[in-house]
Amino acid sequence: MTEHPTRVIFLGGLGRSGTTLLERLLAELPGVTALGEVVHLWSRGVLSAEPCGCGVPFPSCPFWRCVGERAFGGWSRPLAERVLALRHRVDRTRRIPRIAHPGLAEYADAYRRVYDAVGTPVVIDSSKHASLAYCLVAAGVDVRVAHVVRDPRAVAHSWGRSVPRPEDGRPMTRWGSARTALHWSAQNLALDRLARRGASVVRVRYEDLVADPAATLTALAGELGLSASGLPFLEGALVRLSPAHTVSGNPMRFAVGPVELRRDDSWRAALPARQRRLVGALTWPLRSRYGYLEAA
Ligand SMILES: [Zn+2]
Repeated sequence: MTEHPTRVIFLGGLGRSGTTLLERLLAELPGVTALGEVVHLWSRGVLSAEPCGCGVPFPSCPFWRCVGERAFGGWSRPLAERVLALRHRVDRTRRIPRIAHPGLAEYADAYRRVYDAVGTPVVIDSSKHASLAYCLVAAGVDVRVAHVVRDPRAVAHSWGRSVPRPEDGRPMTRWGSARTALHWSAQNLALDRLARRGASVVRVRYEDLVADPAATLTALAGELGLSASGLPFLEGALVRLSPAHTVSGNPMRFAVGPVELRRDDSWRAALPARQRRLVGALTWPLRSRYGYLEAA
């Protein structure tokens, strides 16, 4: 256990907004460990034994085995089921306005134990869901939120695509454009509100990150209180990624070695005009606040 509470960088936003990419970049900074989407550790890691980002099934990964020993004396099915039951009661988007709950302290403590057991001063939890960020803040965890936003039309295009999960070959969840637009607005609005409650929230745009990774990462690291003197893993648009023990996330969590950062604008050609207009209308005016002013 570390003597000081572990600082948690929580990556918030809707899925397919670049949180996994940002997590991998931040994890290259000294003293920072990426954990992936800890919210899914209990079901996908402990109960379903899905692979860690290092490629080994969660129960066999030495990193997670050590964290489990330190945090709970080992992972177990009853522990995972208990946390999942608490999650069902406490950690819900619709509960955000009244997040206080008798189970909150126990629920947040499970996360705190995981974070503290890692043993580095800073950990990244890319769980994304605003409701978990509210739970951690309300329970007094030392958490700073990086709120990742991306043009909702690009996000809608990504959620509409058929992509197999590398974990089990089954297709990733797909949503229609209207559903994506509503989730995009709900998650982003909730993270904006968290900032207004006095929590530490820094907003970063996916488009800025891929346009100028070094400048965006340096600025963000400064705002998150991380040391980023020199970014030896970045050369222009090329990043060299080390293996990471991420428990869940999008397929790029398995990428190791040189990866080219390139903005994915395929939605412009591939998302039908009717859906572009629909997403554009449903996400206004929030998308204008984030600078996505271009007409659909
Ligand atoms: Zn691992």
